[in-house]
Amino acid sequence: MRHLIPDILKPYLRSLRKLYYMMVYVRAPKSAAYYCPVCNVGLRRWVIITWEDTVCCLCSSSERNRLAWWFLERRTPLFDGKQRKMLHIAPEEQFVNRLSAAVGPGYITADLLAPRVMVHMDITKIQYGDNFFDVIFCSHVLEHVPNDRLAIKELGRVLKPGGFAVIQVPIVADTTFEDPSIIDPRERLRLFGQEDHVRVYGPDFIIRLKDAGLNVQKISASDFLGPEEIARGHLTKLSGDIFYCTK
Ligand SMILES: [Zn+2]
Repeated sequence: MRHLIPDILKPYLRSLRKLYYMMVYVRAPKSAAYYCPVCNVGLRRWVIITWEDTVCCLCSSSERNRLAWWFLERRTPLFDGKQRKMLHIAPEEQFVNRLSAAVGPGYITADLLAPRVMVHMDITKIQYGDNFFDVIFCSHVLEHVPNDRLAIKELGRVLKPGGFAVIQVPIVADTTFEDPSIIDPRERLRLFGQEDHVRVYGPDFIIRLKDAGLNVQKISASDFLGPEEIARGHLTKLSGDIFYCTK
């Protein structure tokens, strides 16, 4: 059906859909059954997408996005008004404007190929000096990177002592499994859950961070949010954990 709609009409349809969502789903933050911390709105319901993740109808934040945003707000000094150098890898669109406003001109978005980023960057060969960034945010990137150990080492290298990195990966296996010989997208989909994933991580992922010399805390939603907030933000096991790293 979607391919029958002329391209020229699509922006208008998107605007109409958003208006519909605003009227039907959005409520005052305090009185609504649900709450999206990323765009600070109350919601009557979530939009359910494949694999049953729930996204905000306004900002499209997923469960892991909402957990990360709440973590940044509640458990880091990112919004204290101080300017910082921040590296945001494979940036979540709904975070960009607010993070840029929070940290100032030192905010950098980076990706290997994506067109709408400030710099193109290979995460295994980061073009910045040692101890350069105060903050690094890297969510659901490492499972795409063949040499993730080198990528983690690079993140550690460019992170300032006293700074912090917030890392998220999907933990979906009992133990990490990878096989570089598997390059067929259908096999990757079958074994790793997505055509462009190169491994599945288990809880032993934390060892890879520690092996790179980082101090790591694994933080779950229940470590810093109450049951009511977890329910209202609809954070389930799909939101995963935060790996909070310092050096
Ligand atoms: Zn939202």
